[in-house]
Amino acid sequence: CGIVGYVGSQSALDVVMAGLKRLEYRGYDSAGVAVPADGGLAAAKRAGKLVNLEKELLERPLPSGSTGIGHTRWATHGGPTDTNAHPHLDNAGRVAVVHNGIIENFAALRAELAERGHDLVSETDTEVVAHLLAEEFSASADLAEAMRLVCRRLEGAFTLVAVHADEPDVVVGARRNSPLVVGVGEGESFLASDVAAFIAHTRSAIELGQDQVVELRRDGVTVTGFDGTPAEVRSYHVDWDASA
Ligand code: GLU
Repeated sequence: CGIVGYVGSQSALDVVMAGLKRLEYRGYDSAGVAVPADGGLAAAKRAGKLVNLEKELLERPLPSGSTGIGHTRWATHGGPTDTNAHPHLDNAGRVAVVHNGIIENFAALRAELAERGHDLVSETDTEVVAHLLAEEFSASADLAEAMRLVCRRLEGAFTLVAVHADEPDVVVGARRNSPLVVGVGEGESFLASDVAAFIAHTRSAIELGQDQVVELRRDGVTVTGFDGTPAEVRSYHVDWDASA
């Protein structure tokens, strides 16, 4: 439902949680965050309102990091439980992904992954993406490339945003038939399903096109098609009043 991604020098958790709050108006049933930090990947997720996630983060604080992703979920596949909440991780806990939309061919992908020894723990259509990203990343060590390869295998409507412990200064996003907007700041970059999530930090935005992947770094963004072709990027100024 709502997606936020951040890479910069602020506390990623603070930026992401504030962003998720700005997206609460859309409605949701669960929420979660992931932060690559200290060579690993830390994640927390809870069914219910953001306050449940905030409580969890107070009780079991995540290590601080300056890269992070967050999600508010509106369940389509699998009930609103802690396990089904996003982010979803691979079995090694190295990659985390959040997703808006529906992956239509998830059942076939799930069966295929199970055959290869993956252990899927949720009832969501989303979880397959974490496992597929882990497989592709082990070949390329490049999260954006892994995302392009995975997206080419997915059917349906999706916005996907992922982080990997081995590329802790990168957030990768992708979209097909579902919105994703990039925010370009000074030494920091943002991703969100809606500009409201980052308007407090920057008003320079890039609308991601259909079937595109973005690699987000502190010092800028790279956009390509799912096939790897570099895409032309046009930023625009967000001038609507978002103080309300
Ligand atoms: N289909 C996914 C799920 O049920 C994503 C739902 C959403 O857009 O929040 O977990």
